[in-house]
Amino acid sequence: MKIQINEAASAALATHNVPEIKAPSEPARNLLAGDWYAPMKVVKNDFVNKSLSMWAVNLSVGCTHACRFCYVPDVSTKFLKPQLSALGVEDPDAQWGDYSFLRAWDEEVFLKSLKAAEDTPAAQLNLDGNRAVMFCTTTDPYQVFTGPKAAELNRRRNQMLRRALELIRDRSTLNVRILTRGPLMRRDFDLLRTFGDRLMLGASIPTLDNELARVYEPHAPAPTRRLETLRAAKEAGLNVFAALAPTYPECDEADLRQTITALAQIEPATVFMEPINIRAENVERIAAHARTLGREIKVEVFEPREAWFRYSMEQLRLVQRLAGEQGLIHRLHLWPDAGLKAKARFMQQRRQEFVRVRGEVELKPEQRLALKAADEAAYGGHVAWLNAWWERVSEWPGTPNPAPWTPPALPEHPLTPPTMVAVERAR
Ligand code: SF4
Repeated sequence: MKIQINEAASAALATHNVPEIKAPSEPARNLLAGDWYAPMKVVKNDFVNKSLSMWAVNLSVGCTHACRFCYVPDVSTKFLKPQLSALGVEDPDAQWGDYSFLRAWDEEVFLKSLKAAEDTPAAQLNLDGNRAVMFCTTTDPYQVFTGPKAAELNRRRNQMLRRALELIRDRSTLNVRILTRGPLMRRDFDLLRTFGDRLMLGASIPTLDNELARVYEPHAPAPTRRLETLRAAKEAGLNVFAALAPTYPECDEADLRQTITALAQIEPATVFMEPINIRAENVERIAAHARTLGREIKVEVFEPREAWFRYSMEQLRLVQRLAGEQGLIHRLHLWPDAGLKAKARFMQQRRQEFVRVRGEVELKPEQRLALKAADEAAYGGHVAWLNAWWERVSEWPGTPNPAPWTPPALPEHPLTPPTMVAVERAR
């Protein structure tokens, strides 16, 4: 393994005049932390309908923030199990949050991958990728390592991050998007400012209820600290965005209004939002952790699948309404999950809702036809609303949006059954 750390980058890190930020105090835990065998590089990402970036740089395998809903461990389990097993991780999914291995640094490898990204023909770029490299998509760039090797790993993480950013700035024309839960980003404001409109800095802030966040993101810094840091970034002249993501089932209207109001005051370029989606074992992980805390949480929204559909749709719709109220609608970027488009499930739920509200009524053949037509129209409206969000290209400062976009109107809830008057009309 060849580690080459640029001395100027180290010196800048040591001398910049932003005050040292204290790492969050971490309770002792059995963290597996060390070195990963492969070097860090720029890789194409496979985002669909997110409009975050075209490429990713991931500093480590694993993440010390340990978010219980995290979608990444599924990938670790599928593709990296043997390598993780060799480092002492027996179950990458169940142990998510208890391990993080810092990638090696090889400047030649990094530059080669950067050049490949830079040289990608325009025809191969996704319009919604903003020609941006994202730090990070499978870990957090400002996570904190703990344990016996913590000082060395944290120092090297800082240096690698800064050096990679400098290389992207000086050896390419690519943009950079940084998304983190870590207030340690403040340390790098000096460097980040040198990118001008080529960089966007964002924080994940799903709620401002720190106690609630502790249940879902046990080792991540408190959301109120992330908000303060994002505000400081804006005041420092950086372009900022926020990810109201993923919102928890306990995030009710008052909670979401509080977060959206606070975000609106910062005027982020974009506010991305999604509820928790079901991925591999994440619901079991959420439930198990809540049990260890003795907390009752609304796990019933994930099972059966119809319950998740309702939770997801209700939060997405609620956030669209609240963003409208707060003057944030043109900056909102909802991420509805692809599973919301499943037609058979949609129709089944419409029918169940009809029976729940109208009762078991005997319908004549022409009434059944009218009901079916109403269901089809509701599904068509639902898909049009989903598509409007999926086709959205997020803002990039200093660049006209290549796909000008109008927020879709908030339609009637798609599961609302037709009135009997409407069905009667079919007689
Ligand atoms: S910070 Fe991101 S990558 Fe890390 S555990 Fe949380 S969701 Fe996963």
